[in-house]
Amino acid sequence: PTIRELLAAGGKSFSFEFFPPKTETGMRNLWRTIRQLEALRPTFVSVTYGAGGGTRDKTVEIVERIATETTLTPVAHCTAVNHSVAELRHLIGRFAAVGVRNILALRGDPPGDPTGEWVKHPQGVEYAADLVRLIRSAGDFCVGVAAFPHRHPRSPDVESDTRHFVAKCRAGADYAITQMFFRAEDYFRLRDRVAAHGCHVPIIPGIMPVTQLSTIERSEQLSGAPFPPELAARFEAVADDPEAVRRLGIEHAAELCQELLDQGAPGIHFITFNKSTATREVYGLLDTGAHRPAPAPATATA
Ligand code: FAD
Repeated sequence: PTIRELLAAGGKSFSFEFFPPKTETGMRNLWRTIRQLEALRPTFVSVTYGAGGGTRDKTVEIVERIATETTLTPVAHCTAVNHSVAELRHLIGRFAAVGVRNILALRGDPPGDPTGEWVKHPQGVEYAADLVRLIRSAGDFCVGVAAFPHRHPRSPDVESDTRHFVAKCRAGADYAITQMFFRAEDYFRLRDRVAAHGCHVPIIPGIMPVTQLSTIERSEQLSGAPFPPELAARFEAVADDPEAVRRLGIEHAAELCQELLDQGAPGIHFITFNKSTATREVYGLLDTGAHRPAPAPATATA
């Protein structure tokens, strides 16, 4: 099924994001996590696409295995970094060939320094919106895009960020997933800004539970957005007790998810870092309402 169909079927969507590991051990851990999270019957799972190098092929391998060996619906992330249009078409064709019809279209960041200057591949595309159009023209795909509650770090202001986001949706996106954030109001402001432009593409909140203090710093690096100071202070107050930090992180993530769901978010997309425990704990604390487990795809062999 496509994510478009799954979202339209009603009920809340629950999904998990993985990254392609570099090592064999990492790959074994990932598969253990996938099997553990499969039991929750998520709506879909997604696999990120590396900035460059060897993990790019692994994205294709992992989504293929998910499509053929599990009951899960995979979404392949795809970025424009260092790819010509011909290479992007080839990659999209590979996803199709392994049975993947759901692609998250991203521009990606420059490899090495994500905050460095973006340089388009000479025969590539400039913006994610161009990639959305390319994927759409390549076949019958369901396409998702990225959204940024605090605006994209490269956007000069919130207004232009919103306009470009809406244009990206109109280029043919079926849904969006947000960058991680830690206050429900940040999500609702984004949703309201987008709706004010007459765009009603479902925006799924991306959530990353804080499990240790270093996650806070990592979130700022990954998202380019400041961690809320009042929440940082709550974590600092228990800084010398790692178990208390973890507990606070899980409880905070669960409260955030519940508020989002109760106020109309279409679902939750968990950034798992290939581990299942924190995600399962947060999920276990939620009143998931009418979460309809995803139907098993017809091709599933498991
Ligand atoms: P775009 O939508 O192209 O936007 C980039 C910037 O250009 C924004 O500032 C936007 O406002 C501006 N802009 C857009 N259109 C125009 C226009 N016409 N004129 C002027 N300005 C314009 N990265 C990876 O490498 N691999 C992954 O797997 C990955 N997965 C992600 C998943 C999610 C849910 C999210 C939120 C991010 C992910 N990223 C990933 C990171 C993402 O690639 C970067 O944040 C990237 O910098 C932005 O990508 P985008 O698709 O939003 O870009």
